[in-house]
Amino acid sequence: MLPFLIAFTGFAVLFHFQASLWESLFHEFVLDISPSRRAWMHSIRRWWPSLWTVHVDHNVLHHYRTYRASYVEMFSRAGEEARLQDALRRQFTPGAVRTFTKSRYGSTFTWYGVVPFAVPVWLGFVWLPVLNSWPEALGCVLANLLFSTPYFAFSMWLHPYLHMRFDRATRESPLWLRLILASPYGVAVRISHYVHHQDPRVNYNLQYGADRLRGRWRAPTAAEWDSMIAMGLIEARHRLRLEGRGFIGHRF
Ligand SMILES: [Zn+2]
Ligand SMILES: [Zn+2]
Repeated sequence: MLPFLIAFTGFAVLFHFQASLWESLFHEFVLDISPSRRAWMHSIRRWWPSLWTVHVDHNVLHHYRTYRASYVEMFSRAGEEARLQDALRRQFTPGAVRTFTKSRYGSTFTWYGVVPFAVPVWLGFVWLPVLNSWPEALGCVLANLLFSTPYFAFSMWLHPYLHMRFDRATRESPLWLRLILASPYGVAVRISHYVHHQDPRVNYNLQYGADRLRGRWRAPTAAEWDSMIAMGLIEARHRLRLEGRGFIGHRF
């Protein structure tokens, strides 16, 4: 039992920070790559098209072409989605348009382009050949499943609910997501993701840790707290609990 526990605990810490770091870097340098670096991404588009597609999906469509009138509504005007579809069909191949549509314009994602996004999960398995016993290997696999995957699962299943009013998100989500959304962590991540949309150079993580260590963390301003409450993204009690306070090393 002891070799299992030691391996599990050690790998849990390693895999958590590895995943958080990769999420932060991938989000900064691929998904939300800055305009000055975008030329590089365009130059490799021909031989690595999925990287360009996930960038457009997340940065262009999710950040700027949806949730325009309101942070908590993907489309707010009649015909808005149809107009976006027309624009996409003019600019992209039918395959790319299908990927964008399936990912709900970057609010969740398809398995397309997932190989580099899932690097921490692949890295977790690299350890297996050098481990000496079954309990250690089991600890490694279990820690990998639990600690290399949250950012991945959150991007896929939690993220659409982070863009909903708190009452609606907790009413409409399945039970397992509702437990996360209503938890202190779910509320914190809902707030920090809102700040990310105001300023796409900070708060990349849905799995906390690396943004804070890399100096990419920013707390909401007073005006941002006000607008989150006004639109129902969070409730006044959440602000009272968090504003100006620390939460697992992150200052709100
Ligand atoms: Zn982003
Ligand atoms: Zn978002």
